[in-house]
Amino acid sequence: MAVIAVGLGGNLGNPAHTFNLALDVLSQEPQWHLQKVSSFYKTPAFGPPQPDYLNACALFEVRPTPHMVLRALQAVENQFGRGREIHWGPRTLDLDLLFYDQWVLNTADLTLPHPFMAERGSVLVPLAEIIPHWLHPQKQQTVLELKNRLVLTGIELFQTQGHRQ
Ligand code: ATP
Ligand code: CA
Ligand code: CA
Repeated sequence: MAVIAVGLGGNLGNPAHTFNLALDVLSQEPQWHLQKVSSFYKTPAFGPPQPDYLNACALFEVRPTPHMVLRALQAVENQFGRGREIHWGPRTLDLDLLFYDQWVLNTADLTLPHPFMAERGSVLVPLAEIIPHWLHPQKQQTVLELKNRLVLTGIELFQTQGHRQ
């Protein structure tokens, strides 16, 4: 089994509702076991002008390989009607594979750990809630240490962790 961290994002429709549905669908995948879910946070968008995002992170224990995990995440994104027209543009659901155990991988369609995660408050704030002591295999710093390096502005608690369980 591997432990994976998944980042959830969305800024169209009702992202909190979409996150709950997506987590339920992922929990029902064979060999996926939901371990933890963070609070949901409202975060400022980057990229083109667009509404604020909702962000969260979840921890699963899984058997599938990293590429199988990526395909499963993309299938769930598509199921929830994600559009992909504009780079970094608005979307109903974005599912990023942040960590797959301590794997470091650079392939055409999958980079591990997820690139840029160490610079993003929208990822590190929810992630620090569920796995503060997880070591980033390239940065050699924990999630909490990476988060504490950032100047965090505009990130607001939207829904407390535990609400959906
Ligand atoms: P960002 O990657 O900066 O967060 P984004 O989430 O908006 O931007 P997408 O359009 O969702 O980007 O994804 C672009 C591509 O990133 C996907 O087609 C996927 O193959 C690739 N990718 C590489 N590594 C990962 C990863 N760890 N998790 C998810 N997608 C990844
Ligand atoms: Ca993303
Ligand atoms: Ca993505």
